[in-house]
Amino acid sequence: MAELYYESDADATLIQGRKVAIIGYGSQGHAHALNLADSEVDVRVGLRSGSASTKKAQSAGLRVLPVADAATEADLIMLLLPDTEQKAVYDAEIAPALRRGDALFFAHGFNIRFGQIVPPPGVDVAMVAPKGPGHLVRRTFTEGAGVPSLVAVSQDASGKAHELALSYAHALGATRAGVLDTTFEEETETDLFGEQVVLCGGMTSLVQAGFETLVEAGYQPESAYFECLHELKLIVDLMYEQGIAGMRYSISDTAEYGDLTRGPRIIDSRVRETMRRVLDDIRSGAFAEEWIAENRSGRKHFDELRAKGAAHSIEKVGAELRAMMPFVSAGRERVQDVSGG
Ligand code: NAD
Ligand code: MG
Repeated sequence: MAELYYESDADATLIQGRKVAIIGYGSQGHAHALNLADSEVDVRVGLRSGSASTKKAQSAGLRVLPVADAATEADLIMLLLPDTEQKAVYDAEIAPALRRGDALFFAHGFNIRFGQIVPPPGVDVAMVAPKGPGHLVRRTFTEGAGVPSLVAVSQDASGKAHELALSYAHALGATRAGVLDTTFEEETETDLFGEQVVLCGGMTSLVQAGFETLVEAGYQPESAYFECLHELKLIVDLMYEQGIAGMRYSISDTAEYGDLTRGPRIIDSRVRETMRRVLDDIRSGAFAEEWIAENRSGRKHFDELRAKGAAHSIEKVGAELRAMMPFVSAGRERVQDVSGG
């Protein structure tokens, strides 16, 4: 088993001795800024002038500065902008502010792993990546718990970058849940693979294909929705709590026999070969190159695919059924990125 770090493994005072700039006040940004401030860390938030978040951060009691000023004032900068925006903001406003001895932190490895951001020598470069969305990072902290996180160091100029990352993770509440060492390569590649193959891409395509198969065979869309989408949560909750074997313990023997004999026919050797090719595209940088180009050219293809997905008949029947089950979505915040990067 890999080593995990908990509360007593971190030196809380390291981060308390730094001037920290949290750049961005979105899902992760607000959680990091507020948790660190509650952990008695000297925090300022860097935002674009005119940012809609300025008021929110100020009314939460935080100091807000333009990005370049926050970066200049700070000696530890945590970049919590959307990954696709980070390079431009880094080049224009952060890089000129970096001094020997500063630290540059990330919550996801994409821009370092794919060479979009190349920090100067003399600067510690580390990652503290919570394995959960920002609103959970904040909520669990206020409840006295935390979200498990990964830490990594890609440049250890001070010789203390790992201790500093652990201290940051402590202030964030992550050492209450467990902190695991990784590398920028492993975090980035496994994060992309997970969201493409299993959590988002694999799951949504599996649900849609199952739904379409039933509807095309003449079954009611409502039945297909309940079977292929609604019930998914019940199964996932069991897997989350008890593992796959524990989930199988709770389902009927008929369901379990169907699972064991038919599952491998669906996810067959051809699908596994495709998974390996998707992983190859991640590791070679081909996916990153494609996504960066898509952003540069205005996201036309992305917007088309998104609109096509939203127009799928499963969304219409789902919206109608969920309207009759208000308890299903009651009180849920919209989660932008379930997979943590
Ligand atoms: P987000 O989209 O929720 O928030 C980004 C913030 O940056 C917003 O405040 C936005 O107003 C601001 N912003 C956008 N463009 C800007 C620009 N050009 N200049 C200045 N500010 C700008 O982003 P997020 O989901 O919090 O992601 C931040 C980082 O955290 C990313 O590296 C992401 O991979 C990582 N991460 C996210 C999650 C998650 O669940 N959301 C989990 C783990 C790691
Ligand atoms: Mg992720």
